Amino acid sequence: MKNIKYNLSKLKGKIIAIDGPAGSGKSTTAKIIADQLGYTYLDTGAMYRALTYYAIKNNIAPSDDDRLAKVMEGLSIRFENINDIQHVYIGDDDVTTEIRTPEVTRQVSEVAAHKKIREVMVNKQKEFGKKGSIIAEGRDTTTVVFTNADLKIYLKASIEERAQRRLIDLTKMGITTSMQEIREDIQRRDNYDSNREHSPLTIASDAIMIDTSNLTIEDQVDKIISLAIDTF
Ligand code: C5P
Repeated sequence: MKNIKYNLSKLKGKIIAIDGPAGSGKSTTAKIIADQLGYTYLDTGAMYRALTYYAIKNNIAPSDDDRLAKVMEGLSIRFENINDIQHVYIGDDDVTTEIRTPEVTRQVSEVAAHKKIREVMVNKQKEFGKKGSIIAEGRDTTTVVFTNADLKIYLKASIEERAQRRLIDLTKMGITTSMQEIREDIQRRDNYDSNREHSPLTIASDAIMIDTSNLTIEDQVDKIISLAIDTF
């Protein structure tokens, strides 16, 4: 981080919510901020992905909202930080890599579009946020899950930049894909997530918009922490 000096105690117990489309820089930025502020990092997309992975594995159709909502109620999804990498678990199974495969990515938006499933997810996410000192990111964290967030951010970036970032992330995870596949996936999900009936991706009226196309991760982190200091 750059040379910003501030009083961290002022930031204790607060809620920061970040929304934005795929690849806008939400997760990388949120993870670093969580680390620097001693906050819990809540990746709400990982929860939808975990349910989608479970559905594929258990032959549940992404359209079967009743069954999926029931499954979700009993599903224990947890996060654990191991060597600075956030691992995602369903029960005792580490599904960190499995939830990022192109197969899960292709189906997750359909699973996430169901009202019943979103209701269960939102309740679980609110539970995570009860103690405060949390930074959550996703598509509806500013508009539905944490409407009471102390700071709301909407991140956006050009499609070229977002696809490039995704490619780097997936390659690091050992997942083989191509620039074209990523671009198509991002455009398809943007469209689906922004136009669905329930909790579509929108910009909250009280969110601060940041275009990350030409910002480094360090710049994004500094910007959001500075905003938090000014706001809280
Ligand atoms: O953030 P990520 O790209 O991993 O999210 C995967 C998908 O989960 C999104 O494309 C969207 O369909 C869904 N999602 C959602 N609401 C959230 C987070 C993710 O609908 N809060």
